[in-house]
Amino acid sequence: MSAEQMNPEFTAIIINDGGTRPVMSKPKPFKATKKFIQHVQDNLAIPDDTAVEAADWILNLMERYGANSAQPVFDMEGNGPRCSWCFMIWPLCGHHHMSSNLGADDEAEDGEAA
Ligand SMILES: [Zn+2]
Repeated sequence: MSAEQMNPEFTAIIINDGGTRPVMSKPKPFKATKKFIQHVQDNLAIPDDTAVEAADWILNLMERYGANSAQPVFDMEGNGPRCSWCFMIWPLCGHHHMSSNLGADDEAEDGEAA
């Protein structure tokens, strides 16, 4: 899903720290943007410092929730395998580490990354 297709409520809520990690490694925890921190604060009426922690926690809970069911999929044009959660080439995104939806044969082993 491209950023243009995404509901505005979900755009610009996650800070991509720009750091690199090995392909197929477990994704790093997210940090919330000021937009999302403000959204949390507006809806939960909590203090600034607590809102930062709460926003980060909510983002990472949503990430774990989605990644928990991640699996390799092909689109209707036959492109894939892609991650059903983030649509990157499977398993380069690393969501296989967070999925409980894979059989033992589907799980890439640690150390296979180039
Ligand atoms: Zn993924």
